[in-house]
Amino acid sequence: MFCSAFRMYLIICLSLFLACSTTTPKPKVKEIPEAVVPTSESNVKEETKGPSSIAITIDDLPGISLDNYQEVTDKLLTTLQNYQVPAIGFVNENKLFSKNKLDAARLNLLDDWLAAGMELGNHTYSHPDYNRLTFEEFTANIIKGEFYTKRLHEKYGQTMRYFRHPFLHTGNTPEKKTQLEEFLADRNYEIAPVTIDNSEWIFAKAYHVSMRAKDPAQMAKVGESYITYMEAKTAFYENNAQQLFGRPIKHTLLIHANALNGDYLDELLEMYQNRGYEFISLETALADTAYDSEDAYAGRGGITWLHRWAMTKKVDKVFYKGEPTCPEFIQEIAGIKE
Ligand SMILES: [Zn+2]
Repeated sequence: MFCSAFRMYLIICLSLFLACSTTTPKPKVKEIPEAVVPTSESNVKEETKGPSSIAITIDDLPGISLDNYQEVTDKLLTTLQNYQVPAIGFVNENKLFSKNKLDAARLNLLDDWLAAGMELGNHTYSHPDYNRLTFEEFTANIIKGEFYTKRLHEKYGQTMRYFRHPFLHTGNTPEKKTQLEEFLADRNYEIAPVTIDNSEWIFAKAYHVSMRAKDPAQMAKVGESYITYMEAKTAFYENNAQQLFGRPIKHTLLIHANALNGDYLDELLEMYQNRGYEFISLETALADTAYDSEDAYAGRGGITWLHRWAMTKKVDKVFYKGEPTCPEFIQEIAGIKE
């Protein structure tokens, strides 16, 4: 008796459910082609994410060295995808040309970045130093540098929105700096700051030298030293951020598209994961209110934004002490003084 009543109850419930599910129209989900799904996480509120997060930004695309563009690109993109990193690459379009002719294979490398769900930004056409150029010369180089990258974004239904200063030189006088800021805003560019600045480029040169010398033992030594150095540098800037803001901030890391990162990006990302970091887009990082801090620095240096904010706040000199340096042996192999 109980069983049959229960069965009847179930049948009624089931018919009601079927009636509802067939008569209530489901909201139509608009299918978005994969290529135009934004890589950003604009809907994520600033405080809903964990305390340690970092945007990975990679400069000098399509690559530093002319002889291994494709290999480095493939390795970087594979690693970024494996770790689900929504990275951004900053392009120098002069590197798309070979003997004054557009090299389709190199342009395809940029397409690979967007196809892999990454974003691209403008890093000027030929990487000039704003300290040495007039405002007019420098901005002409910015405009020249957006031609192909802008069109590639349009192909993917996206807009190119970020600018990264070569050498992080933002203007050696207050006038040049303000002029450039206004120019970039008028052209709908957002400046891409860096909090974790570093001498990775010296390690990259040392790695390249060791690779050319066919010295795998030395390559491994340089690679291991690179990860140790980057962790020390990160710890230093974590401490800087804590002192300035009283909390961890969303960091922005600057590295380059080179053979060193082709081979060691996975170890670098592993290091960040082990420190509890989550990988976020540049857009998400910049939503941290730390980036709204005043930056009154106008000088020749290409320095971290943490130090620009600290200088503006006139913090005590002790704040800058103890910054890790590139080991001597790396500088010697690279033939570069830090
Ligand atoms: Zn650069």
